[in-house]
Amino acid sequence: MQFNAWFAAQDNPDERYPLTEVVYYSQSGGLLQVEHDMDALRQRPADEWKRLFDRRWMRTEWPYGSGVWGKKEWICPTVSDENIVSMFEGGTNLFWAERFGQQIGVADLWIKLCGNSHTGSFKDLGMTVLVSVVKQMIANGKPIQAIACASTGDTSAALAAYGAAAGIPTIVFLPRGKISVAQLVQPIAHGALVLALDTDFDGCMEIVRQVTADNSIYLANSLNSLRIEGQKTVGIEIVQQFDWEVPDWIIIPGGNLGNTAALGRGLLMMHELGLITRLPRIVCAQAQHANPLYRAYLNGFDNFEPIKAQTTAASAIQIGNPVSYNRAVQMLKDLDGVVEQASEQELADAAARADRTGLYACPHTGVALAAMIKLIDRGIIQQSDRVVVISTAHGLKFSNFKVSYHENTLRDVVSSYANPPVELPPDIDAVRRAIDERMKHFQSHPPAPIT
Ligand SMILES: *Cc1c(COP(=O)(O)O)cnc(C)c1O
Repeated sequence: MQFNAWFAAQDNPDERYPLTEVVYYSQSGGLLQVEHDMDALRQRPADEWKRLFDRRWMRTEWPYGSGVWGKKEWICPTVSDENIVSMFEGGTNLFWAERFGQQIGVADLWIKLCGNSHTGSFKDLGMTVLVSVVKQMIANGKPIQAIACASTGDTSAALAAYGAAAGIPTIVFLPRGKISVAQLVQPIAHGALVLALDTDFDGCMEIVRQVTADNSIYLANSLNSLRIEGQKTVGIEIVQQFDWEVPDWIIIPGGNLGNTAALGRGLLMMHELGLITRLPRIVCAQAQHANPLYRAYLNGFDNFEPIKAQTTAASAIQIGNPVSYNRAVQMLKDLDGVVEQASEQELADAAARADRTGLYACPHTGVALAAMIKLIDRGIIQQSDRVVVISTAHGLKFSNFKVSYHENTLRDVVSSYANPPVELPPDIDAVRRAIDERMKHFQSHPPAPIT
């Protein structure tokens, strides 16, 4: 069977480009969308797609063991297998957060641990597609010298890793002093040209647009729809991991909003091709310090005002002018979506409480967890609902956030769940006293459900 996909203008069905052409905008200046030959995909019945995807899941047959490339026909059929740049991304665990769920009042709570991935965040899902297409373009003779992106830390880590795996030079633009040490050292280690600019993410985005204007440097930001195609597998995977049953809610933190749009795209594609017969509702969770979508949501998406994002511990979503705003709003409308926000206090406490039940939540996951708690408290998410939270990065990338929380030095936060180390002389009596005190505390504060 022959499958095909291309870039399409959203306002003109006749305006199309091959995926291997260097093009980001339509003639009218809008973003391009990847479109698939849905008639060809429909030739294969839904049950056969499920069987095929299940057969490939987490195996080693190149390149289908990757959670992304196991669904190659739906993602990017135009790349030949030898040009695929994959590090077996996707296929991350879906974790039943039983104790945390009990504490906050939903028994059927699941966390999709997307941070358990090669570069420690879900950005790997989209980057494998983009870098593979560039490798294909170079093989076809396109004079591309390098791939560049602006980043709040995780996109640059993913681009640098996949570029290094492919042998393609990469250039990353970072807001100086606004990303974690772990995120900064990743592209450095992978040999990228790392440009730390005295501005914020939105300022870096402006520069990278200009640098990539002449087409010899390819733009890897998520305004490039190739990224969205890979990222959309997150929703498909969640449903597949529930044996093709649809949860009631999927909650995702949002900054530039490409991933919110991608989540919806994957779900709608499954629906259109008959793999599922109902859709989950989605929640986009924003940091209160970077909440332009939330503000627009409050006025029914009637108008959109970019804002200057304030400092937030959820640094990967500290974005005031999201590139994929329109795409995300469309998905929120199609999936009966909700937008919620979380303050610094709320996101830090939610992450700390989750950690106490065995998770290790990054601040963005903290935003999603805090938004969920608010929606449960308001009765919008029901106690009997099956809820999935997308954990977008590994907590280990944000050690400073964790350390500051437990030292009670995090900005705008009082650390009610701090657990600082107890420093003692090497003296058995002092040690016994410390243990006794802690055990007494446990007995008077049993770690039981707080519903
Ligand atoms: C990129 C990112 C997000 C948000 O994704 P957007 O597409 O920018 O909305 C959330 N969490 C983490 C850890 C990220 O790296």
